[in-house]
Amino acid sequence: MVINRIIALDDDEDYLSILQGFAKIVGLDFVGYTSYAELDLKKLTSSDLFVLDIYMPGSDALDILMDIAKHEQKAFLAIMSGADSDILDSISSLAQQLSLKSLGSLSKPVKFSDFHTLINVSKSETDDHILNLKAEVSIPFAPQFDELGVQDWFDKKLIYPVFQPQFDATTKEIVGFECLTRIKHPILQHVEPAEFVSYVEDKGDMEIYTVTFISESMAKVARLLEDNPELSCSFNISANNLNKRFADLLVDQISHYTFAARQIVFEITESNAVKMSAEAMYAISRLKVAGVKLSIDDFGTGYSSIKQLVELPFDEVKIDRSFVSEMTHNEKASAIIKATFNMSDSLGFKLVVEGVETEEQYQLIMESGSSKIQGFLFSEPLSIENLIFLLKQQNLNLP
Ligand code: C2E
Ligand code: CA
Ligand code: CA
Repeated sequence: MVINRIIALDDDEDYLSILQGFAKIVGLDFVGYTSYAELDLKKLTSSDLFVLDIYMPGSDALDILMDIAKHEQKAFLAIMSGADSDILDSISSLAQQLSLKSLGSLSKPVKFSDFHTLINVSKSETDDHILNLKAEVSIPFAPQFDELGVQDWFDKKLIYPVFQPQFDATTKEIVGFECLTRIKHPILQHVEPAEFVSYVEDKGDMEIYTVTFISESMAKVARLLEDNPELSCSFNISANNLNKRFADLLVDQISHYTFAARQIVFEITESNAVKMSAEAMYAISRLKVAGVKLSIDDFGTGYSSIKQLVELPFDEVKIDRSFVSEMTHNEKASAIIKATFNMSDSLGFKLVVEGVETEEQYQLIMESGSSKIQGFLFSEPLSIENLIFLLKQQNLNLP
């Protein structure tokens, strides 16, 4: 048996494009549907892999699975979702009980590596061990990225920065922005930044990548920061390659400009921050002495203790967006947010609340105390031009 086509059902067209890109790389045909009504189950064949998003408006994934079982579908099946892995696991085991040919699940954001593993599972599950793979690929970025150097990615504009504004929760004015990486891949229509970052890490290029990315991005926002000393710009750095040289390169970048070092914020994830080596701690201290601000990213996911937090030289905490997305219907999530507000207040950390998507979440956060808000409700990440456009409405000094 051979898989030669992916049939995907997901109400989010962006995800269909991602899967389409993946299918193209491995040489499989692809058909995407945004609603269950469009899909005729009878059209699925034994050489299809049916990828089903479990949260489809108006249709329950469990019902769809029952339908598939009723039609005695012979297609392979994979469940896809942004839900917890234990929900995915329980649906996958239901699929198995229904004797569906479930290959497992794909967590959103879907990574090419997971997709590739799934296809390989199908390879070993197939009767004759033949898979219609026209091209064997081990990493999603080859060859367009592998053959080029880090500087080429930027020169060819395959990598570029976007800026997500941060708003004062009370005044709703923009007080800063986070610089995030974007990838324009010649084949894949979409590459998640987090996936790209781990690719660069595996390649061993993280230090040169980060320094180049920050230098290119800083040049874009320098005037904005120089003319508006109350604005800040945050960058993500990975603690794995924090050493003296790296810190010196970053400090050197900043010294090219006349904005204040305190306008630059370096974000390190909580999980990285609490297990920093002595060398990384030294590098962090150098950054701190240079005057930049330090922020703990994805706070709440890294299991740090208050004692560890107090000992680290951080200025800001960014509460992870998973708590924000759950805060209106999960008491534990809202308790964690409240506790983080209290902790930040008593330890003197600034607080950034990330991933605010609804008015209801915003109201609850407003009531919890003062903070900065970064989320789709107020603004998605923007090009530098659109960021300046938005700032113009605030009567700032603009280039
Ligand atoms: P992060 O540092 O936690 O960045 C915030 C992420 O949350 C961004 O995703 C942003 O687009 C997203 N976000 C912001 N507001 C909302 C919202 O309201 N709802 C939802 N659903 N999402 C929201 P993005 O750009 O995909 O970046 C993902 C991660 O990739 C980042 O998470 C960061 O860990 C990493 N990353 C991105 N750029 C860089 C970089 O230049 N260097 C390093 N080391 N990591 C980076
Ligand atoms: Ca961040
Ligand atoms: Ca974060």
